[in-house]
Amino acid sequence: MKQFRSNVIRAGLGALYFTGAHVLLRPIFSGVGVIFMLHHVRPRRDAEFQPNRHLEVEPEFLRAMLSHLRSRDIDIVTMDQVHQRLVERRFSRRFACFTLDDGYRDNRDFALPVMREFDAPLTVYAASDFAEGSGRLWWIALEMVIARADAIEARIGGVATRLDAATPAAKQAAFDRLHDWLRDLPGEHDIRREIAALCARHGVDETMIGRDLCMSWDELKAFAGDPLVTIGAHTITHCNLARQSEEIVHQEMAISRARIEDALQRPVQHLAYPYGDRNAAGAREFALARAAGFKTAVTTRPGMLFPESADHLTALPRVSLNGNYQDERILPVLTSGAATAMWNGFRRVNAA
Ligand SMILES: [Zn+2]
Repeated sequence: MKQFRSNVIRAGLGALYFTGAHVLLRPIFSGVGVIFMLHHVRPRRDAEFQPNRHLEVEPEFLRAMLSHLRSRDIDIVTMDQVHQRLVERRFSRRFACFTLDDGYRDNRDFALPVMREFDAPLTVYAASDFAEGSGRLWWIALEMVIARADAIEARIGGVATRLDAATPAAKQAAFDRLHDWLRDLPGEHDIRREIAALCARHGVDETMIGRDLCMSWDELKAFAGDPLVTIGAHTITHCNLARQSEEIVHQEMAISRARIEDALQRPVQHLAYPYGDRNAAGAREFALARAAGFKTAVTTRPGMLFPESADHLTALPRVSLNGNYQDERILPVLTSGAATAMWNGFRRVNAA
């Protein structure tokens, strides 16, 4: 099903490119600006089984996007400037902002050098437990478990289930099934328990994943010292906020922010909701982020920015730079807004 959706998206992006429809749609749907969403930026890896590949782009693709934006004379701005332009309704020039979620070390090693070539700023949203070394990146633990297993056993919906994982295709199918199952579990503790059991059974040390991939506090502090870098908050534990009590949501927002401010000695004014789709961030979370005093908060809902986005500063949409679609021909499609307009049924703002 995921593969099917992925093929449909690819075909849709291709159709927009080849028909030139994105050029016709641009004046209506390109909006005033765009916030791009990335996770990892690093060279391509060889493994055939890479279920999280949509979360990583190659430095070359980032460079191509930056060069595309510069060639179109689109300003590349910080989240503070996104906020300011929306609030002050300064729309004479189109703008783009680059945001990277989770706080991966490759953001420093591969993204920052490319951003520097263009003197372009970036915002990295750090989950404080990831910087602490105690966080759990369960989707990567799941990838590691399945990569080394020929079969996986789990109780899915109370039923003992055995999933084949002998071939790359079977591994991908097993990943999709287990990923959907885990994301649907009632609480964060349930995900942790199930992943811990899978890791124990298959000899994966999940405690090392965060330390291996994410910047520590010391590293973040040095990184944040770069004039191009802004650090935002991404909660403490990287949990699905919509599944938490109001009290916990408040803590996840306020305490993560306080920890980052304390460690980096800089103000933190921007937030990204973990997972960020409509099952993880809705009206209640948007209001709580506003109440917590964040200037902006970004979702993973696809969309461009429009003047009316100023009324929804804690529900801002983004455009994903997705590792599955690293084709330079789609760059004008992504900046035209045509793809996200189709996705949103041609509504300009989707913030309910
Ligand atoms: Zn995240």
